[in-house]
Amino acid sequence: MTTARVLVIGAGLAGSDAAWFLASRGVSVVLAEVKTLKKNPAQKIPHFAELVCTNSLKSLDPDSAHGLLKTEMRAMGSLILSVANETAVPAGDALAVDRELFSLAITEKLTTHPNIRVVAVEAGDPLALMREFECQHVIVASGPLTTSPLEQWMVENLGAEDIYFYDAIAPVVDADTLDYDKLYYKDRHKKPDERADYLNAPMNKEQYDAFIAAMVAAEKVPPKDFEDWKFFESCLPIDLMAERGPETARFSCMKPIGLELPDGTEPWAVVQLRKENLAGAAFNLVGFQTRLTYKEQVRIFRMIPGLEEASFIHLGSCHRNSFLNSRRLLNASMTSLKYPELSFAGQITGVEGYTESAAMGLYVAGQLWKRINNQAELVWPKETAIGALVNYVMTIEKPTPSNINFGLLPSVELTKEQRKMGPRKKVRKSFAAARAREVFEVFRDQL
Ligand SMILES: Cc1cc2nc3c(=O)[nH]c(=O)nc-3n(C[C@H](O)[C@H](O)[C@H](O)COP(=O)(O)OP(=O)(O)OC[C@H]3O[C@@H](n4cnc5c(N)ncnc54)[C@H](O)[C@@H]3O)c2cc1C
Repeated sequence: MTTARVLVIGAGLAGSDAAWFLASRGVSVVLAEVKTLKKNPAQKIPHFAELVCTNSLKSLDPDSAHGLLKTEMRAMGSLILSVANETAVPAGDALAVDRELFSLAITEKLTTHPNIRVVAVEAGDPLALMREFECQHVIVASGPLTTSPLEQWMVENLGAEDIYFYDAIAPVVDADTLDYDKLYYKDRHKKPDERADYLNAPMNKEQYDAFIAAMVAAEKVPPKDFEDWKFFESCLPIDLMAERGPETARFSCMKPIGLELPDGTEPWAVVQLRKENLAGAAFNLVGFQTRLTYKEQVRIFRMIPGLEEASFIHLGSCHRNSFLNSRRLLNASMTSLKYPELSFAGQITGVEGYTESAAMGLYVAGQLWKRINNQAELVWPKETAIGALVNYVMTIEKPTPSNINFGLLPSVELTKEQRKMGPRKKVRKSFAAARAREVFEVFRDQL
């Protein structure tokens, strides 16, 4: 039993797994949660680890990115996953749960754990609260809807320019599903023979007008009652641009200037695709953050030349979401560069999703556990799912919360023989999954 005491703020997906991880190793944990005092509008039940939307923790398929993440989380003793198994409902190869039983069981396990003291508190200054409860470390896991006193503290003490309150995500497409005959590489204003990073989808006037008209008429996701969408003019949703007038997008992210076609002519409008990762396995649609419903996005974005058969790794969205620019504020253990007692876990670090958030709770608790024991913190290999998530939030220049997906893992170069084994995308994923398992098997001894 160590004498270390850790305050965990937020008993959501990340906070629950972090508290359990530390308490199971003999650390005294104070778990501070506000929801019994006041719920946010997305919360409906008084229990911990509430799944505020779907009841699915995604795929169990060991060859999927979510399957890999689960394998690693289980090895770390994830409470979230063990309770999810106990409260699972039939959902094919996905892990879906009875959400009430799930949250109730987690609450019971945490509140009855001898090393955990649960307190109903709304945190403001996390360091003051840490001292009040005589702790030496604090993990903030207050999630996408962190309440305003804590948000205010972060703005004032960590830096307003590195804290985000909305998430405007552009869709990401799988590179293997693009029709390259209709696309061309060129960076704005670079000569055609210069090396270019952007892939461009040109549109003629007819295609552009039809595209804009489709967005204007399409179904949009309305803001939730707790969301007051105020968009930055420099980051407007593409469908809102379409509503502002037929020419708006053409003078903004779809402008053709400097993007002449290989024959030297200028298209009417252009959709630019930017590599999501070094390997170029995925591309995001530049400036295409959107309020369109998922169904409409798939229908309308497939109108873009070259994207007719596109498979989307994730779709665009706009929603309330507090998260940090981790690359600038934290070290690789998600500990504040300014306050070494303060770490962050969960969605607030820049990941997205229930499972990813819980995984980041385990990761941060694991790093803190090493620190408490005066051991070197771990460097998770990027080939693993958790290592890939950490690498993503620590390297992405323009923070955009992400789910786990194969685009975050280093790419796999296929040999000639391997290329013949089936569709390229499928074969690459299965090799990346096999490599992740192998690398994790070697690494797990250090946990
Ligand atoms: C409306 C909405 C829908 C979503 N739908 C999905 C989905 O379908 N699938 C999916 O995978 N992900 C979804 N997400 C994302 C998902 O919520 C998060 O990924 C996940 O719950 C985040 O885990 P977390 O532990 O970081 O935060 P949370 O699970 O939100 O936990 C944070 C906890 O901190 C508490 N808290 C906040 N501020 C304070 C404070 N000042 N003091 C003390 N406690 C505090 C909160 O009450 C909460 O219990 C959705 C998010 C939102 C907002």
